[in-house]
Amino acid sequence: MNIKAVGINARYTHSCLSLFYLRNELEKNSPETTVEICQYTINDPHYVLIQRLCEGNPDYFFFSSAIWNSELTIALISDLLLINETYRFVVGGPQAEIVGESLGKSERITIYKGSIEGTDNSFFSDLAKGRLHQFYSTSFFKTGKMDFDYPYRPEDFSGPLKNRHVYYESSRGCPFSCTYCLSSAEKGLYHKPLDRVLEELADILKYKPSVVRFIDRTFNDVPDRALQIWNYLKDHGGQTLFHFEIAPDRFTDKMFDFLEGMDAKRFQFEIGIQSTHQETLEAIKRPINPQSAAMVVQRLRKLETIHLHADLILGLPFETKEAFYRSLNDIFVMGPHYIQMGLLKLLPGTLLEREAVQNGYRASRRPPYSVYSNNWLSADSLRELYWLSECVEKYVNNRYFVTIWRYLLKSGENMSLFFSSLSKRLLQQGYYWKAATQETLSRLLLRHVESRPDFTLLRELLCYDWLRCGHRFLPDHLQDADLEPNELRKTLFHQLPKTLAGCYEKSDRAYFFKKSIFYLFSRESLIHIGYEVKSAQGIVRFLSERENNVLGLHRAQLISQER
Ligand code: SF4
Repeated sequence: MNIKAVGINARYTHSCLSLFYLRNELEKNSPETTVEICQYTINDPHYVLIQRLCEGNPDYFFFSSAIWNSELTIALISDLLLINETYRFVVGGPQAEIVGESLGKSERITIYKGSIEGTDNSFFSDLAKGRLHQFYSTSFFKTGKMDFDYPYRPEDFSGPLKNRHVYYESSRGCPFSCTYCLSSAEKGLYHKPLDRVLEELADILKYKPSVVRFIDRTFNDVPDRALQIWNYLKDHGGQTLFHFEIAPDRFTDKMFDFLEGMDAKRFQFEIGIQSTHQETLEAIKRPINPQSAAMVVQRLRKLETIHLHADLILGLPFETKEAFYRSLNDIFVMGPHYIQMGLLKLLPGTLLEREAVQNGYRASRRPPYSVYSNNWLSADSLRELYWLSECVEKYVNNRYFVTIWRYLLKSGENMSLFFSSLSKRLLQQGYYWKAATQETLSRLLLRHVESRPDFTLLRELLCYDWLRCGHRFLPDHLQDADLEPNELRKTLFHQLPKTLAGCYEKSDRAYFFKKSIFYLFSRESLIHIGYEVKSAQGIVRFLSERENNVLGLHRAQLISQER
């Protein structure tokens, strides 16, 4: 029996872990089956997808359905049903029942709810007889076995995992019960024995993947166990980047000590803050203390070795516009590298969806079920905050304006209000529909601050941030005839001595000038950048080498305090 296990991923670099588990369980329990793992993306043309799926005319298609692909899965199955009447389908994954409801009852379609490891043998014997029922339901946490095998085989790394992120789970289930999350619908928690986890990771690392993403819902749920896995990865992980979903309230001092010695760009943490509004946190059953979460994120940020990604959700219960502004301001103070402001999705099967009427939710009936309004945010307010989150995405979630944001934060700026007004400018000028380059964003930002009393300082900081990104020329809007970097280089070439301590010797003087960009900054700017200066001005040299930290900006050095 030929089976195609189909996963439609959101991006080409992603891979679909459940297909690998499925393949192993099918081949173990139904030895007469041959399973081909087929991964596509949601951006592939529909017609091409259909033609590729029909190739070889399999007996069964097993689809893994998720929020991002369920509508496409419905469309594909609808067409495949027409094309060949021998095709049969099994739909699994979190959206299986929704897909089933939409397709309607058919003897050729089976909906499978739950994980494949939780099934009893009836599913496999029915499959072997070609007589699958229309619905199967299992629960991983209710079976006596409660275990899952290693998903990968050596050939996977040169086949379906080639040039893709490798997904791995060392535990299943979540200790929390957030009301908006599907993971909270199934109660239970299982940690794979540590020796097996390390053995499996050793196998994955043999193939030197560029990224391994742990999909454990709360990786540091058991801090000592998490630390042992990190220790292993530190010693054996090579250049692989590891991604973890982390709870801010489960950090220990031992973990901080360990992370301090970690090389930059090896670990990436996604930290779910969601809100700092106490009433909201209680309503969504997320028992974290915003103050201690803030301390943890700030402490992690100071290490400068871990890429920090903090999540905030827009549209949660009890979060008014003012409360959302406060949450966003609190996140800015925490200082993550990336602020993910996701719009709340009212997922079928969650407690929040069951409470939708009492909370006044209006949400899309189509995946991903994004909300439009609730009792605390009118549709207009939510729309305004949505564009604000897009503005933060464009301006903050990159390394273009690091010094500017640090200055504004230190100066006590209300960051939410700042981005709210910047967002209105972007919206008026249609920049949410255009691909905005770093130059465009910088120009718009400069225009946005031109009436401020600190405009001159902000303009200099914009120049600094621009040159730290490795550009060798300033864009038109930042150019100043008196401060042209190439003219400054010529002047310095004649003025600076034959040797300059900490910068160059006589033998490499020419190289120093060739490789450097120079810019003259005021004392005030230099202080905000972080230099200790006594003179009224100073010249900063920008190097072609990058710093070895998370942001990897180009190195900068104060070389002279006077022109
Ligand atoms: S949102 Fe995260 S922490 Fe909350 S239940 Fe879901 S997986 Fe667990």
